[in-house]
Amino acid sequence: MRPWSREVWRIGLLGAAGSLVGWLFSAPGLGLAVGLAACLAYHLRQLHALRNWLIRRPHDEPPAAAGLWGDLFDRLYRYQKGQRHTQGRLQATLKRIQESSEAMRDSVVMLDPHGDLEWWNSAAEAMLGLEPAHDRGQHITNLIRDPRFVAYFNARAYREPLTLTSPVDERRVLQFQITLYGDDERLVMARDITRLHRLEEMRRDFVANVSHELRTPLTVLAGYLETYADTAELLPPRLAKGLGRMQEQTARMQNLVNDLLLLSRLEIDQGGEDHLALAMPELLARIQRDGEALSAGRQRITLSISEPRGLLGSEQEIHSALSNLLFNAVRYTGEGCRIELRWRPHPLGACLEVEDNGEGIDPIHLPRLTERFYRVDKGRSNATGGTGLGLAIVKHVLLRHDASLEIESHPGQGALFRCVFPAARLVALPATPPAPTAALAPASGTLSPSATPTRPD
Ligand code: ADP
Repeated sequence: MRPWSREVWRIGLLGAAGSLVGWLFSAPGLGLAVGLAACLAYHLRQLHALRNWLIRRPHDEPPAAAGLWGDLFDRLYRYQKGQRHTQGRLQATLKRIQESSEAMRDSVVMLDPHGDLEWWNSAAEAMLGLEPAHDRGQHITNLIRDPRFVAYFNARAYREPLTLTSPVDERRVLQFQITLYGDDERLVMARDITRLHRLEEMRRDFVANVSHELRTPLTVLAGYLETYADTAELLPPRLAKGLGRMQEQTARMQNLVNDLLLLSRLEIDQGGEDHLALAMPELLARIQRDGEALSAGRQRITLSISEPRGLLGSEQEIHSALSNLLFNAVRYTGEGCRIELRWRPHPLGACLEVEDNGEGIDPIHLPRLTERFYRVDKGRSNATGGTGLGLAIVKHVLLRHDASLEIESHPGQGALFRCVFPAARLVALPATPPAPTAALAPASGTLSPSATPTRPD
């Protein structure tokens, strides 16, 4: 019989026995009450034993009991044992995780769903100045107060890491990376990248200094060569030819030095100070004219504007990036090709497109195209006066404008370079002469054709 049925039988029998004894004394009701009271007393005693066991000696064996209570005690005891086992395993795992995090040289900080500190390793104490005695339960932004960290933390877009100086030692540079896990909890990791940062700084300074130092001798060389070129007719033909080549190469080196200096400046400057609302129709019309001057009628360049808003950005930088894209299109497409410049709406905001129907690029080159000095065809790039830095400059300018570059191209089917600007970068322009909406006819060029785009100093 099952414990539960047995218990019901037991209560029934006790009640019946009590009634029978009571009946012998002519009081069956009283007998029944005494029988049931005995039952109640037994259950109260077992409840008391259960309470004592759970409160005072939860790790001991359960009190001895028979029937329903014995079964209950046994089940509770087994359940408790199982729980203790699982808890032990979890604790061991947690301990191992904590020990391995502790051994890490990077800071690891665990936050609860509110962003309050739950646990951190000792590297976090040294790097971030966290103190076990005071900081547990504090909100992370009360301890790392740098506005850039607060903005990064609140934005909840953690794909890219954030680089900051350490809150306890500003000579140390830290790279923060936040990961969301579990029930909206966050793991903040900080890595000391001081050495890497210094090396990167040294590389940038070196390139900037070398380029700067080369500028003056190159200007002197170019000046003398130009003077000699004025009297080239007096020189023997062999020397005159060499002079032309020297002028070409000096111009190439000057372009290279200028591009390197511009790239260093784009990397070093924080940017944002000279950002204005740019009227795109005027800016694009100017770039179109420069492109036509370089093309000298070999290609047809059209401009179309269907986005009425202007762009918040640096005129010099946007001019430089777009000139690079347009001048590339002119240099890498053949005679009679068509090049389109477009400023149009995009689901994310607006985009600037430069599309040509020239020779195109094999898609295998696309992922590396914006790397410095990466060229699909080195000979062709040199022959057209390329420095191999044009698209790297475009990428940096776009990065500084929160924009991205998309390239679509297939060999023989032309190339499309699309700069996508977020909506936050767009501004309504004061009412000025109406912006052109249809494709504009090519304007006549005023700029003397040059092999490379105008880039800001
Ligand atoms: P470069 O100074 O050599 O032009 P860029 O960084 O501007 O350097 O361009 C990198 C490479 O991308 C170029 O060498 C060229 O092969 C390729 N490229 C750029 N634009 C175009 C285009 N519109 N059509 C075909 N190839 C292009």
